[in-house]
Amino acid sequence: MIKFALAGNPNCGKTTLFNTLTGSTAHVGNWPGVTVDKREGLYKKLAEKVQIVDLPGIYSLSPYTPEEVISRNFILDEKPECVINVVDATNLERNLYLTTQILEIDVPVIVALNMMDAVKANGDKIVIEELQKVLGVPVVGISALKREGTDELMQKAFELAQTKRNGTTILENTIVGPIIAKVKEALPQDLGSKLFHAIKLIEGDELEVKAHPEADKIATELKAQQPDDGFDGDYEAVVADRRYDYISVNFKKAIVKANKQGMTKSDKIDKVMTHRIWSIPLFLVIMFAVFHFVFSEDLLFMNAIFGLEIKSETAVNFFTGMGYEGEPLGGIPSLGVFLQSWMGFVFDQLGELFGLFMSTDTWYGALIIDGIIGGVGAVASFIPQILLLFLFISIMEDSGYMARVAFIMDRAFRKFGLSGKAFIPMLMGFGCSVPAMMAARTLEDTCERDRTIRLATCFSCGAKAPIWAMLAVVVGGFFGDIFVFTIYLLGIVIAIVSALIMKLFGKNHDVPPFIMELPAYHAPQFKNLMAHLWEKLKHYVVKAATIIAASTVVIWFLSNFGWAFWNGMVEIENSILADIGRGLSYIFYPLGWAMGADGWKYTVATLTGLIAKEDVVSTCELLGLASGAIGLSTAGIYAFAAYNLFTLPCMAAVATAKGESTKKGFWVTLAWWFASSYVISLIIYWVLELYSVAVWAGILVTLVLVAAIVASGIVLSRRIKKYSKE
Ligand code: GDP
Ligand code: MG
Repeated sequence: MIKFALAGNPNCGKTTLFNTLTGSTAHVGNWPGVTVDKREGLYKKLAEKVQIVDLPGIYSLSPYTPEEVISRNFILDEKPECVINVVDATNLERNLYLTTQILEIDVPVIVALNMMDAVKANGDKIVIEELQKVLGVPVVGISALKREGTDELMQKAFELAQTKRNGTTILENTIVGPIIAKVKEALPQDLGSKLFHAIKLIEGDELEVKAHPEADKIATELKAQQPDDGFDGDYEAVVADRRYDYISVNFKKAIVKANKQGMTKSDKIDKVMTHRIWSIPLFLVIMFAVFHFVFSEDLLFMNAIFGLEIKSETAVNFFTGMGYEGEPLGGIPSLGVFLQSWMGFVFDQLGELFGLFMSTDTWYGALIIDGIIGGVGAVASFIPQILLLFLFISIMEDSGYMARVAFIMDRAFRKFGLSGKAFIPMLMGFGCSVPAMMAARTLEDTCERDRTIRLATCFSCGAKAPIWAMLAVVVGGFFGDIFVFTIYLLGIVIAIVSALIMKLFGKNHDVPPFIMELPAYHAPQFKNLMAHLWEKLKHYVVKAATIIAASTVVIWFLSNFGWAFWNGMVEIENSILADIGRGLSYIFYPLGWAMGADGWKYTVATLTGLIAKEDVVSTCELLGLASGAIGLSTAGIYAFAAYNLFTLPCMAAVATAKGESTKKGFWVTLAWWFASSYVISLIIYWVLELYSVAVWAGILVTLVLVAAIVASGIVLSRRIKKYSKE
């Protein structure tokens, strides 16, 4: 089997090409950091099977980021039979900077000129023959997205793979040229890719200097003798400058721009979407629309505005999917609520069906009907709603909007002296904290990485969504969507405030510059969306059938038996679980939701959430806190939600955090999760509770709190700015 590597800038379409070639459904992302590790797959349409390796996106082969090191070492050490350099044709000049470096390695190279569809749509033209002549390697125009030209690309790459190639450089006729030749001679005889190593040595590349101290001495001497026209001996800058010069002189001819001055469609959309002032409100409106469409029981605001209420007398109101329990409806439900009600109905019926064969008075009947069908069903009934939510998130990702969100947030973060780069792994936390924490590997600074991992859980993940969906029903039909929206928002706000606090009390360092490419907007691909949803669905179903089902059985047992379990089933109030819960609930007493007769149940639900967050829902169901029966005040519900959002994530995420953090960082993270969730829950409960006692007192307290937060924010960011200057 032979091996081809895909190398290129972030966002040039490597993963899209990888998926097209291998038929897999790796995550196509619009921001850097999505592919940190290399990923492998098979291409089977040629005479021989070809292993395709999707390398992380890079702008150069310097050794500054983990992505650069991974990609570079792969090409040098693993010696793939061919490197497919994926190039974004809409952004040729910047992309070719990397190409000029890859060409210096002794390896067959083919340039895949991707996004030709977008070039055509803009009315531009690229003369491929011209490019080929200047680069000296084959160039094939493709569209990874539209699946055009990819087979031709592979055919040509396959032919190339049969040959050998020696590195070439565009630096030959510059002032660096003579130095390169001499440094090459000083390198060990049997070393491959001498040209590449020599040039990196001249640039002063740390890895090379360490590996070849002899040759480095010679390079340093030669550089000192050579006048370098105004770069103060900074040869890294000299080399970069020569590369860009060469590109802009030689590749101009290859590109024929149609509208030299005109703005592309994407530019026009971005004028609005990334507007300095309106972009954030616009983002909030879009997010609210999504939550409204997924979680609202009153889609058309019929009840909220006109006070209309639909009275449903029939057993099942087909058109709304709701009301099968005979309750009056708030209005026309959103699609999410509609689907959720139907799923709930289905699981209810399933329970009844089993009820025909067994009684819940027997232990096995109770286990199957109340335990498994009830518990797992409670989680499963939220699947359609969660999928719908992810459909919207996928649309935002695939169309290119999420990249803008990252850009907007980066801009906002920077105002506080925070690195925007950290925000991007965090955004992934909306899906799942595990990959989000892994994406933090893109951050160079270990301290920054630890903080990012710590805050990734503020972004409510897919497993927490069923908790909000369950609570949304209780908060009251008309406010369900607002409730969920505010929970997500709370997460973002707390993440920003926490980052500020850590910045102030932790070690300080520079905010590294962060380059982000905004891909052109395009209509989301149906196939991509379905692939994402399918992955999510699979993940949920597998999780429900394994971890959640298993923990449900354990919880069922603990809630139906006393310490003397050989004496048979007992009332839930006398169960083992009740004792454990009561004991622990004292810790959470100040947070409001652990008070009262049901307090221990919420405590237990929180506890089981440490296994998997969906377990909060199945536990509530098992303990008789089915959606209607949650007896918390609005303040209690918010405090409960906040606690579950900010506390320890599930076991899988905790394990990932441990693996990805520094040792000390991990312990701080654990402490942070415990403490922050407690404090936030406490504040929320008492502020909201004051509202219900005395609205004016509540408003006053809120104003004071807001003023305090704003004031400390200003003071903090001033101090941070001062620090970072020093
Ligand atoms: P990677 O960072 O190099 O792995 O890039 P991705 O594969 O994640 O793609 C980045 C963005 O470019 C995504 O929004 C893709 O849908 C888009 N994209 C990829 N290939 C093409 C293409 O051939 N044409 C167009 N118009 N867009 C593409
Ligand atoms: Mg990728």
